[in-house]
Amino acid sequence: MSDPRFSIIPADAVPYDETWKLELLATRPDRIEELPDDYSADDGSVLVALMEASGGRCWYCGCQMTFGGAGVGNSITREHLLPRARGGSNRAENIVAACRACNVSKQAKTVEEFRVYRGGVVFYSEADR
Ligand SMILES: [Zn+2]
Repeated sequence: MSDPRFSIIPADAVPYDETWKLELLATRPDRIEELPDDYSADDGSVLVALMEASGGRCWYCGCQMTFGGAGVGNSITREHLLPRARGGSNRAENIVAACRACNVSKQAKTVEEFRVYRGGVVFYSEADR
């Protein structure tokens, strides 16, 4: 937390579950070298990077996100396009910024399953603008 920008993120912004990392260490220690450039850091750096990369817009609904914290619907979260539970990785290519409301609603759905769940919408980041 040495970067002063991170101080704007509440301590409870995104509760981070390291279970996957422990499982990886136990089952696939050969893959651990993938970690340095992944998006698993829990020090706020990922959220700051995602906020900058996304222009502050949710990948799904396009709402303007904030560093609002756990109880705030438009607060930024680290979203796995292919959920961890479905085999998705923590690497950058699988990670986008999504508002908490979308992330909670998507749960372990794939992007296509979430699209059906939302009535067949074109998501914000897929649309021509
Ligand atoms: Zn959203």
